[in-house]
Amino acid sequence: MLNLVLFGPPGAGKGTQSEKLISHYGLVHISTGDVFRFNIKNETELGKLAKSYMDKGELVPDEVTINMLGAEVEKNSDAKGFIFDGFPRTSAQAAALDELLAGKGTSVSMMVALDVPEEELKTRLMKRAEVSGRADDADPAVIQNRIDVYNAQTAPVAEFYKGQGKLRLVNGVGTIDEIFGRICEAMDKG
Ligand code: ADP
Repeated sequence: MLNLVLFGPPGAGKGTQSEKLISHYGLVHISTGDVFRFNIKNETELGKLAKSYMDKGELVPDEVTINMLGAEVEKNSDAKGFIFDGFPRTSAQAAALDELLAGKGTSVSMMVALDVPEEELKTRLMKRAEVSGRADDADPAVIQNRIDVYNAQTAPVAEFYKGQGKLRLVNGVGTIDEIFGRICEAMDKG
């Protein structure tokens, strides 16, 4: 299996690039943020819980997120590989993903980390707010908190994969196609 962790701060372009990568590599895309938003829209218990964290720019608790991710992987037992987008976001999630994939006789193939300066992220998120309708994009204080949470809790996850020799840093500034080209180059090199 080819299992890609697409990594980067809020607004780095993970969702946009995932859409292009799905068709190019024939992988199943799992975005934890999208699954939470789907649950919010459908007013499930999980959605109500997730919303209380997401609206503040905090992370949904690990146990909840890990269980949900496991269920999404199980739903796609015939996949030839996955793009994990927005997961893992903590060291505990990274350890859980390793364990989950090991149980299926596979592992993370690589982590592609999109590198985008903080000022550019803020500009992109404010712009996205105009079309996304996402409460967490519309409020500068929430955006700042998401970036702070990323720096404190999520950025260290890259070290976990670096230690396994799986980290590939990719410049996330440029046109969508330029960045897509860089990601493909990193993936094809292995
Ligand atoms: P972005 O990366 O642009 O902030 P996402 O859609 O990936 O957007 O995530 C939106 C929100 O969903 C996060 O701020 C967080 O509250 C929640 N979330 C998504 N993925 C996770 C995760 N793996 N662990 C905990 N919370 C998550």
